[in-house]
Amino acid sequence: MHPAVFLDRDGVINRDHGYVGSIDAFEFLPGVLQACAQLVNAGYRLVVVTNQSGIARGYYGETEFHILTEWMKTQFEEAGAPLAGVYYCPHHPDKGEPPYRTDCECRKPMPGMLLRACEELNLDSASSYIVGDKYSDMAAGRRAGLKATLLVGDSESKSGKEPGQYCDWHGDDLGKAVGWILAKTPILDK
Ligand SMILES: [Mg+2]
Ligand SMILES: [Zn+2]
Repeated sequence: MHPAVFLDRDGVINRDHGYVGSIDAFEFLPGVLQACAQLVNAGYRLVVVTNQSGIARGYYGETEFHILTEWMKTQFEEAGAPLAGVYYCPHHPDKGEPPYRTDCECRKPMPGMLLRACEELNLDSASSYIVGDKYSDMAAGRRAGLKATLLVGDSESKSGKEPGQYCDWHGDDLGKAVGWILAKTPILDK
């Protein structure tokens, strides 16, 4: 079994402009690809887990999502940080129409995407991490039994809730989160 780092997409990998559905609107945050290459070199599988209710809401379709995802995967590959998987939830409990309008098990804070990835990619949840920018990412990670949950950015700062209650680490960005993970990682025999 492999250790993994689960990555939320919007607000962690790319700037969260709200419902990013096209390559034009996808803006990598600084240092993300380099930080991800460090994780791969340290032996982690990279898995994106992203809520995409923009699909349920009709802002973009699954075809557009896949076009963007294929492009994004190429950027990671070319940076020496290939993604082991990209999991997405197209649902919303009360927006849009069925089948997208549903109470699913995959929309974070539910852990469905993480559990499925662990099963399909042979990942060891107990030695894996999640990096996200919302408390719902942290909750999904805890429900999936991950080793630690890391919150980046300030998108939850207006919630009035104390981050420490929801995550194991809180900091500026993915680069800093990766530094924290690597400091906790035993050197692997190669
Ligand atoms: Mg996010
Ligand atoms: Zn879902």
